[in-house]
Amino acid sequence: MKQDHDTVGNFPKLLAPLKIASRTLRNRVIMGSMHTRLETEQNGIEKLAAFYAERARGEVGLIITGGYSPNKVGLIEPNGPRLDEPAAIDELKIIPKAVHDEGGLICAQILHAGRYAKQEDCVGPSDIQSPINRFKPTALTSHGVKQTIKDFVTASHNAQLAGFDGVEIMGSEGYLINEFTTRRCNNRQDEWGGNTKNRHRFPIEIVQQVRKTCGPDFIIIYRISSIDLVEGGATGNEIIQLARSIQAAGANILNTGIGWHEARVPTIGQAVPRGVWRQASRQIKQAVSIPVVASNRINTPDIAEEILENGDADMVSMARPMLADPFFVQKISQGKVDQINTCIACNQACLDFIFSNRTASCLVNPRAGRETEFSDELEKKPKNLAIIGGGAAGLACAAEAARLGHCVTLFESSNKLGGQLNLASVVPGKDEFNETLRYYRSQLNKYGVELKLETRATVKDVSNNFDHVIIATGVMPFIPKLKGYDHPKVVTYADILSGKRIAGQTVVIIGSGGIGFDVAEFLANDVETKTTRSTFFETWSVDPVSKVEGGLTGNSLSQLKTKRKIAMLQRKPSKPGISLGVSTGWIHRSILKKYGVENIVGVTYEFIDDDGLHITLDGHPKIIAADTIVLCAGQKPVLDLNEQLNKHGIETTLIGGAKEASELDAMRAINEGVRLAQTF
Ligand code: NAP
Ligand code: SF4
Repeated sequence: MKQDHDTVGNFPKLLAPLKIASRTLRNRVIMGSMHTRLETEQNGIEKLAAFYAERARGEVGLIITGGYSPNKVGLIEPNGPRLDEPAAIDELKIIPKAVHDEGGLICAQILHAGRYAKQEDCVGPSDIQSPINRFKPTALTSHGVKQTIKDFVTASHNAQLAGFDGVEIMGSEGYLINEFTTRRCNNRQDEWGGNTKNRHRFPIEIVQQVRKTCGPDFIIIYRISSIDLVEGGATGNEIIQLARSIQAAGANILNTGIGWHEARVPTIGQAVPRGVWRQASRQIKQAVSIPVVASNRINTPDIAEEILENGDADMVSMARPMLADPFFVQKISQGKVDQINTCIACNQACLDFIFSNRTASCLVNPRAGRETEFSDELEKKPKNLAIIGGGAAGLACAAEAARLGHCVTLFESSNKLGGQLNLASVVPGKDEFNETLRYYRSQLNKYGVELKLETRATVKDVSNNFDHVIIATGVMPFIPKLKGYDHPKVVTYADILSGKRIAGQTVVIIGSGGIGFDVAEFLANDVETKTTRSTFFETWSVDPVSKVEGGLTGNSLSQLKTKRKIAMLQRKPSKPGISLGVSTGWIHRSILKKYGVENIVGVTYEFIDDDGLHITLDGHPKIIAADTIVLCAGQKPVLDLNEQLNKHGIETTLIGGAKEASELDAMRAINEGVRLAQTF
């Protein structure tokens, strides 16, 4: 996915201002709502203010905060952020002020979690439990419904008093409002349930009353579920009907949400092609006259401009791309598109952190959500730094150190930068890593890093000329000393992903961790080389305009075509791929299942010979025939140069895989590189 350099500085639709109520948005880019959990930290509100201010400085058109609950039972988790109490007004004031000081605009999102609330007293339109929450909701009484509407109004008014430019009423993703609008969770027989009109009454009244209380100048965004992706979800006609009613109720903008959290269709992961959900926003845009926002898997200026140019939406929402690069919009307006640090849709440091009760950050930008921990000050006494190894850790360290004014020489033994990122980038969906490599190349160039490619650094090279030597020499595949490991049919994951060796038709993979999954997907995907929009919809049984309820056709492909027969093995008896991301592991498992990949756990490896891999399983010997046996059994650090340097009394600092190979991934490598650079 190369950036089209011809389009640099040429994004007329994206950069066009837009008047909304009494405000003018600088451009068509909205920073979508993201739960960061920063408010749970000490000085959390200050940290949030710094987080949003940095994005406003980066010229995003409008920021939408993470969700604030309108009352206690609507909290997504106990102690989550809320806006119903007067104390919140004074407490939150510094956020809109910080954004306004940077010339930006900001709306507070009002989110009632409904049956997704992780608390015992959660509520819903009916008492139908969500498959992803262990708590069963209590059905709101008629009085409870009316009180909740008032709570939305109070929270919105509090946001106005705190200085926010408006609110986003969260009506998608399967939260309370979305639950009211669909048959799936609403079996009420009163005025709030039953037919479509009654099911839509709740959001319509909320918008009407917020408008009445907050006046015409206050921005009201309604986040509508443009496709539910669950059984019993809305049809396209119902979605259009709701969009029109919400416009009539007084909303200024319709933002779109894609899929409920309990949906079993990937909506934002790497398996989802860029811009794939544009038809869902287009359908709404054609039905209303207020601006409509497209969202999900929009991560480059090119795809954003294309969506606007094509008339699929009036604005685009980007949440994760603003974590990856707060200056995304500014770089477009300054014609520096090649310098954008692109979100690679991995979810590893944003959603997965949130799901594991950590504060959100970003794999490609460790500074995200940690703004107050990093310095931009140029070094008054620049150091001479030698960085050995041009993989993720070395690149991140070189780019950051050079940005801060240090004199950096980067040695890389091969003829190209990237290290393990080059291997990852050939895995289906992971070609987004090419954007990361493009970003680093642009940074090295911009900050004048001296690049020595095809140079295996020696003791002599670094002995006298540098203040510090940083070893980022990375990892090599770990070879388990299994009898027969040197058999010609045995290869490493690096051999396969680099194209050095081609696997046969029958493959056994030793190791079912992250790399084992990557290799299995790479090898299985031998028929389709690229997931297109139509193959994506076919694979996941999606009708993007919801002619059928929820947009699910029910014809999900149980099998994907592959020419290979693949078995993945591990010694542990646990579920394979347990270390994969919380928000993405299920997608990889589903895809491999569709390819018919067999998982065998709890094995003891015996030996390898011409017949294949000999194992013991459940106490019985077994042979697994294989043309190719791929080792994905972890890595070990590459430390030869470090040992030589240390022998000559040269001090070094290790980062990335060279420091610790176990559980090395790009997130840790980049984080260590950037943080080390901040210490010189
Ligand atoms: P990993 O996830 O730790 O998996 C290593 C695998 O090798 C395990 O299945 C392990 O299973 C097996 N193994 C370990 N020692 C072995 C031995 N002596 N003989 C045979 N098998 C052995 O490591 P990885 O796959 O190398 O990945 C490296 C890091 O990158 C991990 O942190 C991983 O999470 C991350 N990563 C993540 C993704 C993703 O999230 N999609 C993709 C790629 C990489 P048993 O010990 O049970 O046999
Ligand atoms: Fe994007 Fe990954 Fe960063 Fe999340 S962690 S913002 S998905 S690059």
